[in-house]
Amino acid sequence: MDQNSKIAVVGSGYVGLVAAVCFAEMGHTVICVDNDDRKVAALQGGDTLIHENHLPELLERYRNTKIRFMTDLGEATRECDAIFIAVGTPQSEAGDADLSYVEAVACEIARSITSYKVIVEKSTVPVYTNEWVRRAIERNGVDRTLFDVVSNPEFLREGTAVADFLHPDRIVVGSDSERASALLKDIYAPLTDGEYYKRPDAIEGHCSSTEPPLLLLTSTKSAEIIKHASNAFLALKISFINAVSNLCEAADANVEQVALGMGLDSRIGPKFLRPGIGYGGSCFPKDVAAFRSVAEQMGIDFNLLSEVEKINVQQKKRFLAKVRSALWTLRTKRIGVLGLAFKGETDDIRESPAIDLVEMLLAEGCSVTAFDPAAMKRAQEALPASDRLRYAGSAYEAAEDADALLILTDWPEFASLDLEQLNKIMRYPIIIDGRNLYDPNVAAQHGFTYLSIGRPASY
Ligand code: NAD
Repeated sequence: MDQNSKIAVVGSGYVGLVAAVCFAEMGHTVICVDNDDRKVAALQGGDTLIHENHLPELLERYRNTKIRFMTDLGEATRECDAIFIAVGTPQSEAGDADLSYVEAVACEIARSITSYKVIVEKSTVPVYTNEWVRRAIERNGVDRTLFDVVSNPEFLREGTAVADFLHPDRIVVGSDSERASALLKDIYAPLTDGEYYKRPDAIEGHCSSTEPPLLLLTSTKSAEIIKHASNAFLALKISFINAVSNLCEAADANVEQVALGMGLDSRIGPKFLRPGIGYGGSCFPKDVAAFRSVAEQMGIDFNLLSEVEKINVQQKKRFLAKVRSALWTLRTKRIGVLGLAFKGETDDIRESPAIDLVEMLLAEGCSVTAFDPAAMKRAQEALPASDRLRYAGSAYEAAEDADALLILTDWPEFASLDLEQLNKIMRYPIIIDGRNLYDPNVAAQHGFTYLSIGRPASY
């Protein structure tokens, strides 16, 4: 078995860069391509550009040895056996996935194919994309025998991306060609045969399983659907528990107890049953919309997904109403905001419900002082500081003199603040927690009016 494949990864964002360094960590030789030359220059200089655990050390270890960065996709195509496409597939105005970046890459790859290549869809794409990629390459004059297109969707989570990539629950390979599946099996062999995990310096994972991951071989179309269906199902689980949390509030019950009782049923499981201010990020919102759009185009009634989206939008509005219920009026109120990233442990603010809420507060006439441990730079680019929006250097600075403190992102450090100190520096001791990071009784003992999601308020 050839344990060292030559791999090109196109797109050096959250998925592409992580995949590239992890393939290097697995022993492969990697060329990471991006058409953003400033990004390539930064990566060549050792700057990861994104906040991810383990990424800086792996980049440092393999930069200039097992991994190279360049803008020339032609050169990468000629040198490598497998070309992973990991460019963005954002939501178009119509709601479906904008595949123009994938198409551009496919056409560019085609111009440099002179020997057999496997083109791998790593980006999240709708079913049938593999056929379009194949057609695009053929239309650019490449003989059908010189390439295969396979689907290998990525399931990593931002914040734990490197560990997730190296310890996946499963590896899905959708392929209609034995030659291509054999290459993909070789590429993932260090994980599937368990060799990687025997290394003393192997990066640890976050799942409890000690078994090597299974490589699930499916048709290309099934693999494409697996990714969309998985993300849509996870979003559904979040919207479901959010709807249940609203019911709990109305009934004066406690959603944490309800989620625990539900999650102990092995058919349901405890994960993704945490209520909050709605899902966000660069994947769930666009993938639910794209999956709904695929269903629509095929004449399938999948209105369940529209409900998932509706609940998600309402959840933010309900949170704003909760803030109003604690403060009476909002205009001129000083609000401290903890968290801007769409979830903890990442600097990604794409589709972040926290950013939406800051905008909603500003529109209501509030003054906001915000803090996030990693997403400040990106937030300031999206929402520049103004006379009513300030960025603080710490959680305590954000809380200083505030009429209320809102917790919008589940950063672990926000769960262990010194409540006594907070109470002293705030104008009024009011916390409205969109992530349920505190025990309501503990908050009350420290003198706070504490409102959270799906749990009785405490005073
Ligand atoms: P990203 O925006 O962080 O990165 C995309 C990169 O592609 C950018 O660096 C961009 O410059 C580059 N690019 C665009 N066009 C290019 C071209 N023609 N040639 C070379 N480079 C080009 O996106 P991401 O978050 O890494 O997501 C990539 C894909 O992976 C998407 O389809 C996404 O849905 C999917 N995905 C993302 C996650 C996640 O958590 N971010 C998880 C699983 C799957």
